[in-house]
Amino acid sequence: MHSSTEITRRKLLKGLGLGSMAGMLGVFPAKAAEEKETPAYKRGLPPLTITNVRAIGTAPSGSNLIVVKVETSEPGLYGLGCATFTQRAFAVITAVEKYLQDFCVGKDVDNIEDMWQAAFVSSYWRNGPVLNNAISGLDQALWDIKGKRANMPVYQLLGGKCRFAIPCYTHASGNSPEEIADNVTKYMEEGYRYVRIQQGGYGGTSLTTEPDFKKAGFARESDQYMDQGKYVRSVPRMFDTVRKQCGEEVELLHDIHERLEPIDAIRVVESLEEYHPFFIEDPFSPEQMEWFKQLRAATTVPLAMGELFNNINEFKEPMVNRLFDYIRIHISQIGGITPAMKVARLGEFYGVKTAWHGPGDVSSVGHAANAHIDFAVWNFGIQEAARINDLQREIFPGSPIMKDGYMYVNEVPGLGVEIDEKLAAKYPMHTRSNWTVRKFDGTIIRP
Ligand code: MG
Repeated sequence: MHSSTEITRRKLLKGLGLGSMAGMLGVFPAKAAEEKETPAYKRGLPPLTITNVRAIGTAPSGSNLIVVKVETSEPGLYGLGCATFTQRAFAVITAVEKYLQDFCVGKDVDNIEDMWQAAFVSSYWRNGPVLNNAISGLDQALWDIKGKRANMPVYQLLGGKCRFAIPCYTHASGNSPEEIADNVTKYMEEGYRYVRIQQGGYGGTSLTTEPDFKKAGFARESDQYMDQGKYVRSVPRMFDTVRKQCGEEVELLHDIHERLEPIDAIRVVESLEEYHPFFIEDPFSPEQMEWFKQLRAATTVPLAMGELFNNINEFKEPMVNRLFDYIRIHISQIGGITPAMKVARLGEFYGVKTAWHGPGDVSSVGHAANAHIDFAVWNFGIQEAARINDLQREIFPGSPIMKDGYMYVNEVPGLGVEIDEKLAAKYPMHTRSNWTVRKFDGTIIRP
């Protein structure tokens, strides 16, 4: 058996009238063929190995933020990656220091896919947010290093720009529909075309007075209360007021945050159809995915889902069956740029667009990672705006910027964000163990 390339080569030689003479004449000497097969990067760039992996934790604005720093055998050349799992931040620090460090030191920085695959199965059991975030720190740092080596921003390595900047949505909240409408107006004046509207946080504490479970001394004082019925009634009223005050042009988004009984979530989404939302996010908890078919049959309101998924395989079935329209991924939670790109590309085949998670518990490095993917993916949908304050910008020089409702990254090689470790150390992380929401009788609501 001959390989097709071998046959093609023979045909070519015959056509040239060279035949078996070629070898004798040295047209294809063995050495030259070998050189031809050597990858260009091996010729152009010196070998580079990982010498150290560290986790840097900081909480300049309340949320714990974690960045992984991957140092290399070239002095001064390192990469940064976001590994922020704010609720269990110290567990990620341990995973990086006790396992990832040992796993990485001495390995080649070039083979990102191979490193990701190896890290993913190296603990045998997988799918956990702690390890996914640790792997993301490594993955994003390796993309950062690759960009620095190539002298290109990471979006160039992913295929270049599909758009000049990243359209974003911001958050308007308040305790009354009128207050929310005023905030939407303010953001429209700032240039935002897309605004997420939420009343009383996620329909939580501010909608109600003191719940019975607290009066009875049940559970913790810091637990939140949610009146699901009141929330269900409040959402269409909020949309109605905002539409009347702000008009039809602005795109409105809303996040149910998985806090309803599934059948009630269907009722709410259906009731919003007349206000044509841009999307409604997380109607169900991930345990209730089967309800999506019923929701799809009931309404054409666009849906966003996925921020609580732990493994990219969880996206496959709902995307293939077109159960939602926008992919919500917290890039570090899913394991970094490498796996997020796979889900994004899969979406292109099924008419599903991206909508990466960009809350306050994403570091500037993570926001930059969101933006670099957003540039390169054709089926980009929308991006949650990076709200980065001045102190965070000081800690993370080169942070993405927001202007007229768009996010921009700088054009320096890599992800473009640095860290001032000394300043970061002045804002140490803290333990945040409680984030509980209950019904009036104290029953826990799954967020
Ligand atoms: Mg959400």
